[in-house]
Amino acid sequence: MSRTPLIAGNWKMYKTIPEAVETVEQLKEAIKDVSSREVVIAPSFVCLFPVAEVIRRSNIALAAQNVFWEDEGAYTGEISPAMLRSGGCTYTIIGHSERRQYFGETNESVNKKSKKSLEGGLKVIVCIGESLEEREKKNTFSILRTQIEGGLRGLTADQMREVVIAYEPIWAIGTGKTATADQAEEVHQFIRNQIGEKQGKELSEKTRILYGGSVKPDNIDELMAKKNIDGVLVGGASLKVESFARIVKFLF
Ligand code: PEP
Repeated sequence: MSRTPLIAGNWKMYKTIPEAVETVEQLKEAIKDVSSREVVIAPSFVCLFPVAEVIRRSNIALAAQNVFWEDEGAYTGEISPAMLRSGGCTYTIIGHSERRQYFGETNESVNKKSKKSLEGGLKVIVCIGESLEEREKKNTFSILRTQIEGGLRGLTADQMREVVIAYEPIWAIGTGKTATADQAEEVHQFIRNQIGEKQGKELSEKTRILYGGSVKPDNIDELMAKKNIDGVLVGGASLKVESFARIVKFLF
């Protein structure tokens, strides 16, 4: 079953508006000939609209890094799925480990945000992953099972088709320690099996599962060669055009 590879760049809290616009102008040029893979950029909220203007009619899509689960209301500082869509987003990241760690994101809030985003026509990239301590205690699979069950609870099969899962072991994010391609593949296979148990094999075979955690030009090819790795979510190496373009152009 062929799944279109998805390469997503998470710019976190980096880049002012002029910096973001300059970067995406250069990226657009650098990857203009790429067609067989989907490319998504997630700048900060204030950069979304200016970046959307640059990537109009290009092969780059736009994601937010977070979203709220209400349509509108007195929720100071929050942003709804409809607002993100009006700003040019087709995706939102949900449940990134930094949001879980610093901003109280839980599997329950991931679930509410995922449902609301999907109802509002946004595709979601739901992040899951274990800490080093959890891995060392051999709890990786039980943690991931809980995150998948809690985060995706109650989604319909149609909604699941718009879900991308990003497996990001916390110990590999921003640390320079990448999971080996074999370690990642083992976990991706587990995640696909979990989805298969809940939603059936056909849907699980269609679901894209990304790897994230210190992805760089020098490890992308090995990761993408694995059967169950359908793309990557890239932090640090997405900030520079040269490295991100090389990742986008991974070799089969
Ligand atoms: C991330 O932010 O999702 C990430 C994986 O970061 P890095 O690539 O820098 O480890």
